[in-house]
Amino acid sequence: MTEKLYYTDSHLFSFNATVLKCEKSSEDKYLTVLDRTAFFPEGGGQRADTGYISGVRVSHVFERDGEIYHKCETYLKHGSGVDCLIDSEQRLRRMQNHSGEHVVSGLIYRNFGFSNVGFHMGDSCMTIDFSGELSDADIEMIETTANEKIRENIPVRAWFPSKKELESINYRSKLDLTENVRLVSIEGCDICACCAPHVSSTGEIGMIKILSSMRHRGGTRLEVVCGMDALDNYRIRQGSAERISALLSAKQDEIAKAVERVLDNAAAQKEKIAALSMENALLKADAVDIPDGNICLFENLLDDIAIRELVNKLSERSKGIVCVFSGDDQTGYRYIIGSRYADLRKYANMINFGLEGKGGGSASMIQGRSSSGSQKIKDFIYAFKLN
Ligand SMILES: [Zn+2]
Repeated sequence: MTEKLYYTDSHLFSFNATVLKCEKSSEDKYLTVLDRTAFFPEGGGQRADTGYISGVRVSHVFERDGEIYHKCETYLKHGSGVDCLIDSEQRLRRMQNHSGEHVVSGLIYRNFGFSNVGFHMGDSCMTIDFSGELSDADIEMIETTANEKIRENIPVRAWFPSKKELESINYRSKLDLTENVRLVSIEGCDICACCAPHVSSTGEIGMIKILSSMRHRGGTRLEVVCGMDALDNYRIRQGSAERISALLSAKQDEIAKAVERVLDNAAAQKEKIAALSMENALLKADAVDIPDGNICLFENLLDDIAIRELVNKLSERSKGIVCVFSGDDQTGYRYIIGSRYADLRKYANMINFGLEGKGGGSASMIQGRSSSGSQKIKDFIYAFKLN
């Protein structure tokens, strides 16, 4: 069995080992077994380490029957001594997050009796599900206490207790294991069965930030981010706040109010535009000389309600069909077509065929889209006859 160095030293990122086995896998990779390894295989919600064995890329690590397999790009000679290097930045960030998760889960268990019933370590944050509902005040208290535990810099201890010792300890666990249970303990905070590597003391977590909470299956789902990932998250948010602040000429802590003002303004403008659009439609309807045949107009400044009004007004005076198009030759046109003298539903297929589009509606009005250019549209509409 491979000696698992990550159990005893979670900060060992470079080490020497001997290749015991190296076999080709079905995906043309090489599965390498070493006599000892600090590469953590996935487990306990934490993903597998990546890195290099004597310069050869290790893209995945997994455990099978007590042996740790390193998925390598090329063959490594059986019996050869190798230098191993783990991608330490990634591992350190994962340990910050995972230990932070233990702090939060332990505190919620101690304060409310709720269990961690789901844990996922994503690329940008962790998702943790708890078995009961937490209020905003509860969550703020947990976040504050968790960060106080970081400030206290409490040692994180990981060990395999004897069966007897294990019986005397009350620990959190998802599985009913009784043998080879590894405990991770943070005094005054948490004791949990876990196989993953952790930080040495809570100070190393740096920071615990609960980003969001939502009700989930009768409990609470939290999004949490710790350590360097929390710093990255802060930078992204700060960048957004700075840009919004500059765009709206508002202080950063007043940007929400400034955005509200912009949205109120936009709503008022929209109302004004709708009124102007309607007024314009009515003026246009009066100004058009009604021909014997069909009417075909192109209007890009009117909104849909105003266009319908224009079509209705002109239909009252026209014996043909009244068509208003909006759009352009590149992206296509939307149409509204009205008539008081024919059931347009009967002509819809023919009109859509002629306009290379689709649409439908009522007896007196149909609307849809056309992919024809403006000249082709005019040619079709002026030639079109109701029968
Ligand atoms: Zn864990």
